[in-house]
Amino acid sequence: MTQKDDRAHTEAIQLMHVLRTIKKMERTVDGPPKSSEGGTATNAANIHQEGLKRVMNSSGAWGVSHTRVPTESRPGHVAIIAGLYEDPSAIAKGWKENPVEFDSLFNQSRFTWSWGSPDILPMFARGASGDHVLTEMYGPEVEDFSGKNKTSVLDTWVFDRVELFLHSAKSDPVLSDKLQQDKLVFFLHLLGLDTAGHSHKPHSKEYLENIKVVDEGVKKMEQLFEEFYNHDERTTYIFTSDHGMTDWGSHGAGERSETETPLVAWGAGIRGPLLATETDPPSPRSWELAHIRRSDVKQADIAPLMATLLGVPIPANSVGFLPREYLSLSEFEVSEAVFTNARQMAAQYNRKRELTESGTISLLYWPFPQLTKSTEQTLLTEIRKHIEDGQFTHAYYVYCILPEVLWWAVLRRHEDMYAALRNTSKSRGLLSLLFPCALYLAGIEILVLSFFYRFVLSIGVAGLAVWPLVSLRIPWRLRIGWLASCASLAVFPSLPVVGREANTPLVVASGCVWIMCALMFIYWVSSSNFNDTPRAVGVLLLQVALLSVAVWNIQSTSSSLGNKQGLLSFNQSLSWTLSGNIASINSFDPTWVHCFLTVFSPFVMTALILWKTMIPFLAVTCVFRAVNIVVQAPTRRLFLIVLVFCDGMGLHFLHLVTNQGSWLDIGTSISHYVIMQTTVLFLLFLYEMARGLTSINIWTAFVCFPYRSSRHPSNMSLLDDGYITNIPHSEAYNPSTVTNLLYECEEGKEHVE
Ligand SMILES: [Zn+2]
Repeated sequence: MTQKDDRAHTEAIQLMHVLRTIKKMERTVDGPPKSSEGGTATNAANIHQEGLKRVMNSSGAWGVSHTRVPTESRPGHVAIIAGLYEDPSAIAKGWKENPVEFDSLFNQSRFTWSWGSPDILPMFARGASGDHVLTEMYGPEVEDFSGKNKTSVLDTWVFDRVELFLHSAKSDPVLSDKLQQDKLVFFLHLLGLDTAGHSHKPHSKEYLENIKVVDEGVKKMEQLFEEFYNHDERTTYIFTSDHGMTDWGSHGAGERSETETPLVAWGAGIRGPLLATETDPPSPRSWELAHIRRSDVKQADIAPLMATLLGVPIPANSVGFLPREYLSLSEFEVSEAVFTNARQMAAQYNRKRELTESGTISLLYWPFPQLTKSTEQTLLTEIRKHIEDGQFTHAYYVYCILPEVLWWAVLRRHEDMYAALRNTSKSRGLLSLLFPCALYLAGIEILVLSFFYRFVLSIGVAGLAVWPLVSLRIPWRLRIGWLASCASLAVFPSLPVVGREANTPLVVASGCVWIMCALMFIYWVSSSNFNDTPRAVGVLLLQVALLSVAVWNIQSTSSSLGNKQGLLSFNQSLSWTLSGNIASINSFDPTWVHCFLTVFSPFVMTALILWKTMIPFLAVTCVFRAVNIVVQAPTRRLFLIVLVFCDGMGLHFLHLVTNQGSWLDIGTSISHYVIMQTTVLFLLFLYEMARGLTSINIWTAFVCFPYRSSRHPSNMSLLDDGYITNIPHSEAYNPSTVTNLLYECEEGKEHVE
């Protein structure tokens, strides 16, 4: 067993389904696990255990339910309730909308009552026909992530409402009548642990406290239903979760801690605990469940399990296999249920085949080979027909024409290309042409590799550190500076991408370092006699002041949240004015969003995250533009270099695009390619924004000398109307290599001094 196995897996949103079955079914009497043959366990488990542990040890069946990526709420719920793995594009539709209509267990039930979050319940109520799915939801203000409220209020709210509901049924004859029928589902959506995991991280005190609340609540719910139905042995309880969670409180990807969720079933129709056999999947020791039979399922298998217990048709779009090892039904009943499951799947398969057949050009349609004889026969006839028609030759030409057109377009320019090659090799020698080309290729490959292994980026930056040593034209001061900055930059890609928790002291310390740097720079500027010194110092001092307030704000906000005092409105308004940015890879950790809003609102959060992620890029582009103005580098040529790099990388990523493996693998391979294709556009967009930010001089344009703006129509900026415009600009300047740019920069500096 690996070390990873030993970690307790955490669960995010938990779901409790209470099912009213079609008829009375045998209910397991509490007792120790039995062997499959009926013998009693000798090493009986601790019968004093409470809640779900007691259920697993003495009255029900359990296993791990394996989810698919993305491990998000919506796809998890759809798999459990409808038995299908939804198209992940549903996330883009806002989770609440159904991109395609689908059948669900709720829809098949006579009545479903559900309690929980307004983010989840409406999508199933809307998907069901008629009005037999009833929801009761709390307001979004209950979903407060700020730490002021206990996260378990989300769960106690649900438990309290269920209690109230059953109580009110006693004095409501209409409701009472409904509750005495069969095929009823009670859906309890318990969001507390997900919230606790996101806000306080799993393994925190708050998280463990919340687990206890849920465990006790589940026990109480069972008691309430049993009392209400007078222990009539017609109630089944299913406890599971839509997804898991990593140790740092996130989910969405395919880590085992995210895809492994619990499934505990007990009550009518469910078998009692069995002794573990050697073929069982091993469980971590910390779970203390190694002695009981573990029956793993795929998440979509829960839908046919619940449908069978409920005595309703399996949801039409379900792809789940009935996990028969959970049932304590007779051989006949299990066979009937499995047969129903098989027919439901076959019906779905045939419908899908029909749709594919009708919607696809017959030439491109290739049915699944392992089929019944009749379908196989049809398939064979179809293929024979295609071959006889000789249409495959047609397809061959369609595929060949496109590359031929492209190659013709390229080779038409062969004279230009040849001339360029001959001129370059004549003036500089063929070797000096091949060497940069080899470097370009190496650079492209390093960048491509860095998408898969981050440390390769360190190697690339270390390689960049070497090149000024090759050229003799570069002054030694610049060489040392370049070497030092490359070396310090090379450290960053080797650092871990996500830590377990946000490190506020580190953020504050980095802020302090920047303030010190800025103060040293102010000292340097004020001791030099540029003709615009007072204004430059003024601007810099303002920036230092803003940075200090931002650092204080981060410290104060995190300590306030840490002390459960909530988000102070003063801090929040400061965050809006100062952007509250912590420029780091942790930009993707949504916890910083709590500086702005503490309720769960995915779209506002995404917008904030995107905006914040852009700020560091924009800052770097502004600096790039400043350097560009100083050295007068031709922007278009620099962008052409970037374009060559992006196209080279795009070509490599195009070859890596796959249609095999998990959804995550396929999605990642496609997004790599798309990212590469859009990088140039993104950089152009950033550069234009930076031009706006660095060209508009508020001082001269609006306050002091509005007429001056006409004198510098293109190059208005804080930098260029003072001490830097007098750099000599040589017309014979050859900007094609970065060496020239830096050399030019040094020359300019000497001139200023
Ligand atoms: Zn979550």
